[in-house]
Amino acid sequence: VPTVGSSRVDDIIDKIRVSGGRVTQSRRMVVEMILGQGDHHLTAPELIEAMRAVDPEFHESTVYRVLERLTDLHVVEQVQVHSGATVFHLTDATHIHHHLLCAECGAVTETKGTLLDEVAAQTLDQHGFVLNVNSSTTLLGRCATCSATAG
Ligand SMILES: [Zn+2]
Ligand SMILES: [Zn+2]
Repeated sequence: VPTVGSSRVDDIIDKIRVSGGRVTQSRRMVVEMILGQGDHHLTAPELIEAMRAVDPEFHESTVYRVLERLTDLHVVEQVQVHSGATVFHLTDATHIHHHLLCAECGAVTETKGTLLDEVAAQTLDQHGFVLNVNSSTTLLGRCATCSATAG
């Protein structure tokens, strides 16, 4: 379970500075919001809704602009999920993870970044095949909630 401490917010804020970006209040808010939400994976509309719950004056265009800029700075990354929706997550070298994507409800669950190491070793060993595993590999399936309610 990833820890959502203020130190992680600070690490990411540092990364914005190191990458040459300015740390504006709206950028900080977006970072805090992504870290504060359950699984750290939000679509832009979900993020806008969450920001407006805190500050009703927050403009939709501001959220899109911040996401675009943070993507340029490699602080956040877009992850395309199979339903066609795009979720945003934070890139963090100390927190590499893969995604378990529910094909039914679209829920994204983080799983540890070493999960596929053994699989990659075996495909290489047995087939000479280099598996394309990166920090945001997505595996498709059915989440615990949907499995429990499946007839
Ligand atoms: Zn992710
Ligand atoms: Zn599901």
